[in-house]
Amino acid sequence: MDATIIDGSAVSTRLRSRLERELATVRRSGGAPGLASFVVGDDYAAHAYERRLRKLADSVGCRFQAEQLPADIEPADALATIGKLNADPRVTGILVLRPLPPQLSEVQLYATLDPLKDVEAVHPVNAGLLARGTPRFVPSTPASCFWLLDDYFRRVERDPLTGLRGATVVVVGRSHNVGRPAVWLALDRGAVVIDCDEHASAAGRLGEFTRQADVLIVAAGVPGLVTGDMVGDGVIAIDVGINAVPDLATGGVRLVGDLDFDSVATRAEALTPVPGGVGPVTDVWLVRNAVLGAVLQQTDLAIGPWPGP
Ligand code: NAD
Repeated sequence: MDATIIDGSAVSTRLRSRLERELATVRRSGGAPGLASFVVGDDYAAHAYERRLRKLADSVGCRFQAEQLPADIEPADALATIGKLNADPRVTGILVLRPLPPQLSEVQLYATLDPLKDVEAVHPVNAGLLARGTPRFVPSTPASCFWLLDDYFRRVERDPLTGLRGATVVVVGRSHNVGRPAVWLALDRGAVVIDCDEHASAAGRLGEFTRQADVLIVAAGVPGLVTGDMVGDGVIAIDVGINAVPDLATGGVRLVGDLDFDSVATRAEALTPVPGGVGPVTDVWLVRNAVLGAVLQQTDLAIGPWPGP
């Protein structure tokens, strides 16, 4: 089978044009979007992500600020920093980046966020709204998975609104920011949903479930976890994983996903590459959510959580 490679960079370029138009509309109605990142310690990937977001925000004219805190920060000081961002009218979206050091509770930090600035929908109220199908914010990574799927469906002349009804969507991974919200978004579209985490793998059952997928979303953070023998013919596979592995050719590192791309491509109808798949769309979506945050500060809503086609 000749699999279609879903080009996330091209989709992201189109989403970025839409973001620029939306930003102009929001500005005209008096909104002033600003994204703030919250990073603790010196994790390389978190800092690289923050730099990438700053570059994107700068290039579209969205204010960006980074709160960089030392790895040994006291929990009270970390919570106070969130409080400061909540109170700052220039900040309309707050992104808490992981990993967090052991003295900080992810759940407590999330619960401290102003729900109107919680662009990744990790505050219990926003997670609840998302889970019941009435999201305030659609978190950037799972949103990107479904935005890419919608785009692909349109290209093959399938209706994105109905394309997943009765289909089996298998999600591998169950984190608060990716796996769980991906499950909720799939449920909203009328899919039959199976979610697997590391225990399914430990039980030796992962392939049993992934082989059932019409659409497979993999977000485990394990390089090459899903191989060609673990998928059915004609699967549409979305690879969220970003893993740095040694590059034997250069002696450096290279990024790979959670799919074993070459073997899955022999069976798939379509799949996303890493890099160049989910990642570029996620970045734009996150900045868009900060723009939506600016809208939520106003009463007159100029844009909504899920844009039209
Ligand atoms: P996480 O570590 O918070 O969660 C991983 C989940 O995968 C957990 O539920 C865990 O139980 C499950 N898991 C781990 N090993 C497994 C296995 N062997 N079999 C089945 N399930 C397993 O990670 P996360 O934040 O959800 O991110 C997942 C991956 O996605 C990482 O590689 C991360 O870098 C990447 N990511 C990419 C983007 C993007 O824009 N492309 C955004 C966020 C995260």
